[in-house]
Parts: sequence; C-alpha cells; structure tokens
Amino acid sequence: MKELKETADNKRQWNENFLKYTEFIVGHKNYKGLFFERGEDKRVKWVVAGKSDKGVERRNWWNKKCLENGVQLGAGCYAKIAYIVHPTKLHTCQICGKELRLEYVYPNKRTIEGFKREFNVTIHPYTRDIYQIIDEVVKANDDIERVKRIFKIKGINIPSVDALKQHLKVNFVEAYSKALSPGVYSNSPDRLDGYHSDGNCCRGVSDKGRHKSNMQRYGQDRRVYENWADGDWKMADRLMSIFRKHDLSADHIGPISLGFCHRPKFHPLTKAENSAKNNRMSLKDVEVLLEDEKTEQVVSWHSKFIWDKLKNKIVNDKDAVKLCDLMRKNLHHILIVFSMIDEMGYGEFLKQFLNPEYSFFDYQFEGFNPETGKYKKVVSKKLTGKNQQNNIKRYYRVAFDKLKEYREIENRKTNIWNSNEVDAELEKLFSLLSAKKKKEAKTQLENVFKLLTNIAESNW
Ligand SMILES: [Zn+2]
Repeated sequence: MKELKETADNKRQWNENFLKYTEFIVGHKNYKGLFFERGEDKRVKWVVAGKSDKGVERRNWWNKKCLENGVQLGAGCYAKIAYIVHPTKLHTCQICGKELRLEYVYPNKRTIEGFKREFNVTIHPYTRDIYQIIDEVVKANDDIERVKRIFKIKGINIPSVDALKQHLKVNFVEAYSKALSPGVYSNSPDRLDGYHSDGNCCRGVSDKGRHKSNMQRYGQDRRVYENWADGDWKMADRLMSIFRKHDLSADHIGPISLGFCHRPKFHPLTKAENSAKNNRMSLKDVEVLLEDEKTEQVVSWHSKFIWDKLKNKIVNDKDAVKLCDLMRKNLHHILIVFSMIDEMGYGEFLKQFLNPEYSFFDYQFEGFNPETGKYKKVVSKKLTGKNQQNNIKRYYRVAFDKLKEYREIENRKTNIWNSNEVDAELEKLFSLLSAKKKKEAKTQLENVFKLLTNIAESNW
C-alpha cells in the first residue's frame, strides 16, 4: 500500500514552480548527502516510503542533522529539524505552485471570521500572513483593540503596531497557536524537504475529499478508524445504515470518541436529539454499558484502563459528564502516543490494534423495529472480493492518516501530559520497539496507558 502511494505521488502532475523548487532544494548545500534519485522523466523522486531502504537512508540523514543541531531525537524532532535545515522557510505547493511560509502565520477560519467581524474585511485563506494583514487593517489606535479582541488578548497594553506584531510573533506564531496555521505541515522523513507536497492552500483538495466520498459511498463511519475503535465495525456500519433509512440517528450508548467500541447496538434518536446530546453520557447510559459489559466488550482495549478505574464511581449525571471529559482527554493522549510510535517508524507494530478482518463479512438485518432499534435476526455472509481488499487499505490509510494529523497537534504542545514519568516510560517503550521485542513492547504500552489513567484519576 505504501509503495503504491509513493509511486502515485511521484507520478502526480507537478506544477512548474514545484519542479523548480525540487531542483533548488536538492541542489542546496543544506541538503548535501540526503538521498534522492531521479525517475525516467529526470524528475527528482520526491517521496520515498518511510520503511523502505531508501526511507531508512533518509531518516538516518535527518537523525544526523538532529544531532548536529542539538535537536533531541524523539517525537516531534523531524518537524523541528526540517524547519531548521530549510534555507528559505518558504515552501512551494505541488498543486498550485504558490509559495507559503513554514511558520504559523496564516489566520485560520475562526481568525478570518474575527477580522470580518471587527474590520469588515474579507481575507481569503493563505493569501496573506498575519503581519501583512495587521499592516493593512490597523490604522488608528482603536484598531489595536480590535485585533486584541480577535486574538482574545486581555490585560496587556499594546502601544504601537510594531509592539502588536511583536506580541503576536512571540505568543501566537512561535507558540504554534491554534488561531493560526502554517503554510504547510511537516511530513518527515517521507518527503525530501520534510514537508507535505501540497501546501495548506490545496490541502484536503487532493486527498481528504477523495477519502470522504469513498467512505460515504460505503456507508462507513470514519470515526471508527480514526479513533482506533474495537468492535465489529462492519456489522455496526450495516445496522447504522438501516437507522439512517428510517431517518433515525444511530446513537452509540458509549461514544466512539470517548474510547468505546463501535458495536451493533444503538439508541434510536431523531437527528435533532442526537446533536443535542453531543457525545455526552448520562448515568443511565453508564448503567446500560455496565449491564452490557457482562456479556460483551463495550470499551476499546486502549481505553479499558480508565473505564475500569472510574466506571464504578458514577452515581449521578454530573459524574457521567465528568467521566466523558476525562475519557475524551485520555483518548486524545492515547492517539498522541500512537502518533509518536508511528513517527518513530514503528507503524507496523500498531497494526495489531486494528481489526481489518471484519471486512470479510456482510450482514442483513431482519425484523428491524425503528421504535426500539432492535431487530429479530441477522444473517451474515462471507466475502472475499476486491472490494474487501480495498476496504482494508482504506481502513489502514484513514487510521494512520489520523496519526499523521496528530503529529501536527503534538508539535504544538511539547509536554501534553507534563509528566517526566510518562516520558520515561515512553523511552522504555521506544527502546523495546527498536530491539524488536514486540510482546514486551505491548506490555510496556499498556503500562503507559495505565500511567496516563492514574493521572486522569488524580483529576477526578
Ligand atoms: Zn496550493
């Protein structure tokens, strides 16, 4: 799968500017010694698969650069070193050929809306950086106050436009603020320069749209893959589509986004009821889950530690909401750990936590009752065709793409759990993985999750 993706990317239509950019980069002294080869068309083969020999060779080069520049090897190191090494800090988009800055200088959707509200200006995404925008809109002293409102800056006196730009630089641009986005996200070491080929100007146009429509076509719930949820997702997806046919929203009693399984069991809710519920659980929901748990798995393996620790402490709806908050946060931490493992080159190890085998069955439900969401009978059928193989590829791709997305979030906050103990246990995990001790690594991963659970419990 990886090989296929690599070839597809190298063969894609390149913008003329991107072609020039690749030649500039491979010819620049900063990248001396970094492996690349040329295809029959003489173009630089920009992408290599991280796990291939060529990928390892590139990774070793980046590791060496990290050491030379005092960047500690570990999660996030490749994003840091790609930035340091880049000679111009300007990236050219493979699709449209536009040059964008590597820093977090572009207002995101909400910030753009803020400028519209305060200044009545229309900013098209990725056309101007925040400093250019400030120069354009800030004319009078009162305008500084408006910018402060957009960025929710309170209690600080900012006397001049220069001081404003300096404040934004230190507290937003260099802090990887969520109010801003970079011109391109890092993608090291697959791409030669350590950045995605598509700039953020075009990101989503090429990849995400395609995945999304595919997923919808097959009636699949993307969140299942993205959250690495356990459960017979195929059967659950099929049952879900029956709910939809009856114009009902299929509501998980234990939401996937909190770490629960994607099970073929739902509360029938109208669409409005479901959106009001917003992935929250009530005391009653927790009770149903505890009852179901006597006969089947309700929570994904990675979230079982926190669930087991807290599930018997829930005595009212307020507790249930608190449990939701802690479980959501915990799943966030779990996916960050997964993304670190993937980033360090051990994605293969993670595949054991996915369940592609469900793809080989299909289901028909008989005697469905839209009032209760229950059915009389389910008939299963074994499938082995090309569709199933494609489905598995898609499953892996969506799951791992989510981890790549997490890398970008992770880069924003260096110490998300703020615990040296977690960091130390993660170090142990990485050395086990590097020694190819798969079984011990799995046990160690569980130790990490238990530790994160303890931290969550201390907030109870
Ligand atoms: Zn573009």
